[in-house]
Amino acid sequence: ETAPAFLSVWEMQAYYGESYIVQGISFNVHEGEILALLGRNGAGKTTTLRAIARMDSPQMNHGEVWLDHQALHNMKSHEAAAAGIALVPEDRCIIPGLTVEENLELAQIAPPVGWSIDRLYELFPRLAERRRQEGVTLSGGEQQMLAVARALARDIKVLLLDEPYEGLAPVIVDEIEKTLRLIKEQGITTILVEQNAVRALELADRAVILDTGSIVFDGSASEVLENEELRAEYLAI
Ligand code: ATP
Repeated sequence: ETAPAFLSVWEMQAYYGESYIVQGISFNVHEGEILALLGRNGAGKTTTLRAIARMDSPQMNHGEVWLDHQALHNMKSHEAAAAGIALVPEDRCIIPGLTVEENLELAQIAPPVGWSIDRLYELFPRLAERRRQEGVTLSGGEQQMLAVARALARDIKVLLLDEPYEGLAPVIVDEIEKTLRLIKEQGITTILVEQNAVRALELADRAVILDTGSIVFDGSASEVLENEELRAEYLAI
């Protein structure tokens, strides 16, 4: 590859205590693309996202992460967030006691502010209908939409999505997928971790497959869909 990557992970190692989970991985993500980060349960996908977002755990003992010429590996999580990284965790973390709108407003307390609440409601009409409803009482799919909307309410460059389709009916997955395409059209870069590998690959431009903390494939998403051996061995699909 010659073009400098937008997000670059280089020889990243991540540990939980003594457990060596992510074993020196390197990959690039280009601006505006959707990268599917796939692999079996326990392969290290969540750990990779958490390390990129500079969460307190895992510890990143070695390696570098660069976002648009900024060295994320020297940052705390709040600094990485200010640099443009947004992690939407699997449990979605909607704040109890707050309405949909208050959850969005809270994300906009610290400048620079991202998408306006009106613009978010255009993207997520279901959230507009439920703006006065307490966030934690939304359906699973609506909570996922709120979690993504809350990320966009900040001024972000990269969206890290951890299993956004988990537990959702196919028709709701369709809706979220449509929204992720619209977000891509706005130039946001996405790393999508998903157990539902087929759905993720249909959406993604490229794929990275992890197996026990190492990269076993880095290439186009369509290549994975066409490669039966790869699918069977690492994705069980
Ligand atoms: P899944 O789809 O099951 O979430 P994953 O690919 O996201 O899988 P990780 O959650 O990154 O995998 O987990 C990778 C390994 O790290 C697993 O063996 C897991 O048990 C271990 N692990 C995860 N979180 C912790 C933690 N907080 N402390 C210790 N070990 C952990």
